[in-house]
Amino acid sequence: MCASNHLYMPRKETSLEVKRWFQDTARDLWPIAMGSLSLRKSPCIREHCGLCESGVGHSSYALYGRKGKRRFSIYVPDELAPELERAIQNGRHLQEVMMEAGRRYALALKNERSRRQQ
Ligand SMILES: [Zn+2]
Repeated sequence: MCASNHLYMPRKETSLEVKRWFQDTARDLWPIAMGSLSLRKSPCIREHCGLCESGVGHSSYALYGRKGKRRFSIYVPDELAPELERAIQNGRHLQEVMMEAGRRYALALKNERSRRQQ
């Protein structure tokens, strides 16, 4: 056992450790969403509506995203907008976590491969 090796070399992760780190991190990421939440002007069914006739109109939140090749948008009531905003932030964070998982997984696989070849 070489003590200096342990001092100066960072301990190498195994792919199983990367898997466990990713699963532990992803487990707490809820709610989750991808896409964007934005205000859109929606038409109104009232006749002679002052807001519509003045051009101000009515705005409401919508979640925009994609399902396969198709775009979708879902109306989101105002009081639910903060929760969906949180879900989208978690979604962005999860993408970063996935990027980091891939980086560490690649290093671990390479390390395990060279250990097999020794
Ligand atoms: Zn209106």
